[in-house]
Amino acid sequence: ELKPIKGKVTFDDVTFAYEEGSPILKNVSIDVKPGETVALVGATGSGKTTIVSLLSRFYNVTDGQIKIDGVDISTVTIPSLRKQMGIMLQDPFIFSGTIMDNIRYGRLDATDEEVIEAAKTVQAHDFISSLKDGYETEVNERGTRLSSGQRQLISFARALLADPKILVLDEATSSIDTETELAMQKGMEHLLEGRTSFIIAHRLSTIQNADKILFIDNGKIIEEGTHTEL
Ligand code: ATP
Repeated sequence: ELKPIKGKVTFDDVTFAYEEGSPILKNVSIDVKPGETVALVGATGSGKTTIVSLLSRFYNVTDGQIKIDGVDISTVTIPSLRKQMGIMLQDPFIFSGTIMDNIRYGRLDATDEEVIEAAKTVQAHDFISSLKDGYETEVNERGTRLSSGQRQLISFARALLADPKILVLDEATSSIDTETELAMQKGMEHLLEGRTSFIIAHRLSTIQNADKILFIDNGKIIEEGTHTEL
């Protein structure tokens, strides 16, 4: 059981290979203080998704250790680990139901007011209110009627309600209109406040705002610093 955490994350000489293949990550070491935002940058196939998958324990490391607040994550239960993490994929999970239900999924006992408050904080409220049925708008699994950016905004609100100490976010890459893009940018700032965040970054604004930028190439960190340093 992973006890409540502050959110310090350490990758200690992590090597990883999928199945029998050759290593995809080679001797990766990362040190992140509680509350810091880390932007992962690198070409397609360089290993960014693999890094966040290991932190979420979708796979176990082949060699080395990943620690949260000093605790090796391979020694804790996966539910107790995931409970402290918000994982936001590029194409967020949307289920058949209303937008209200989809956001409330972050914390099932949240009141309507709390759902709306979360949506306001992450800047999702404006687009939701502009729909004829507002929060009661029915969406299906594929999120029909919602753009990729809008689906991410819903996942931001959901994550905020769940209030995890660690966030993993894969930024949407598909074209997003300027208005939604601005909302996402501002919404994300609020969501990241006080949380340790790993973002697979596709936007310059995210990279500029990060406390740490990691350039990944062929499974290795080839450069590390802040936007002003690099
Ligand atoms: P992208 O930006 O395209 O998502 P990425 O930097 O996130 O790329 P990864 O998805 O981490 O890169 O992939 C790194 C390498 O691992 C690639 O060579 C990929 O083919 C390989 N890989 C990814 N997932 C698997 C898997 N489940 N089994 C085997 N190999 C995999």
